Amino acid sequence: MNNKFVYTPGPTNVRDNVRLERSKVTTNPDIDTDFVEFYKGTCDKVSKILNTKNETYILCGEGILGLEAACATLTEPGDRVLVINNGIFGKGFMDFVKIYGGDGVYYSSDYRKEIDTDKLNEFLQRDHDFKYATLVHCDTPTGVKNDISKICRLLNEYGILSVVDSVAGMGGEEVKGDDWKIDVLLGGSQKAFSAPPGLTTVTLSNRAKEVMESRKTSVVGFYCNLNIWKNYYIEKWFPYTMPISDIMALDLALDNILDEGIENVILRHSKVADATRKALQGFGLELFLENGFCNTVTAFKVPEYIGAVKLKNYINDKYNAIISTSLKPYDNEIIRIGHMGENARLEEISYALNLIGKALKDLGYVSEKNLLDLFNGYY
Ligand SMILES: *Cc1c(COP(=O)(O)O)cnc(C)c1O
Repeated sequence: MNNKFVYTPGPTNVRDNVRLERSKVTTNPDIDTDFVEFYKGTCDKVSKILNTKNETYILCGEGILGLEAACATLTEPGDRVLVINNGIFGKGFMDFVKIYGGDGVYYSSDYRKEIDTDKLNEFLQRDHDFKYATLVHCDTPTGVKNDISKICRLLNEYGILSVVDSVAGMGGEEVKGDDWKIDVLLGGSQKAFSAPPGLTTVTLSNRAKEVMESRKTSVVGFYCNLNIWKNYYIEKWFPYTMPISDIMALDLALDNILDEGIENVILRHSKVADATRKALQGFGLELFLENGFCNTVTAFKVPEYIGAVKLKNYINDKYNAIISTSLKPYDNEIIRIGHMGENARLEEISYALNLIGKALKDLGYVSEKNLLDLFNGYY
């Protein structure tokens, strides 16, 4: 594989120190209890970044594993589950709920807007008999951000557990797990944490643990059963061999964030995101969203006479750079620029916007402005 410039909303660039960390000599993670301490330390760093005292587990599998494990462990056959749907990942939670026998109910709203908490509240006043609700912090295919601070507190008032996919949020957006009363917080190594893909993080409130442990039926399956982690630290034991090199790399990626300071990291993201959106609009392009813009990815509409797939391919072939289109049904409609983690930096986004501006013009887009100059004016 030759080196490419990657500007996708995950996996992101990995800093050299993180990349090299995986080449270090390792111990036996099953037997050496020093590794249990190391693993616990890494988990605690995740909890710290999420501003919560709740315990984090790191599972061997990328982000989707966390989503499925949360649903597998919470759902008993017939349980009513609210699936909050204003994006493609939000909608997708229904599959996991159903696989494990849950009775999923959609609360759906416009994909171009964040969830309106007042309207959600009106819905909940009529029907709030749900064991848990799923929602997405930053729904990456369209870039919509939901206000999890309000939504999770609201769910908590109704006694509904909250399951939040913040895979593409945490590390680029503020998360206050305890203040916002989030019960299950899900993350991934390859998004704003900027570690290589392969790990998911699951952070559980005591209330979520109690519900998981007091099931009447047993969890179907082993790998997605979060209850198997219950006493790992007391017993110094893992349910399966931990991918030690990946965890060492994630640990260092988290140190990179903590050393820079989480507030500074988030500020770096929001500055890049703001200027990117303004530059695209100044260039005459239309953003996909009306509101709820997230810090980690920007989706813009590609003029129909060009099409997103053609633009993506052109940038790949001509400039050796990877940008993403979206998922169906928006795959030929929008391009997404990932500015998360190590990609949320002036040098990265400048290069990406320069290519996008040039490529659009090469393909017939007319503007007397220069996309990179516009960005620089706003940054
Ligand atoms: C990336 C991502 C995931 C994990 O899925 P992948 O298969 O690793 O892409 C889950 N949720 C969201 C919102 C994501 O952006």
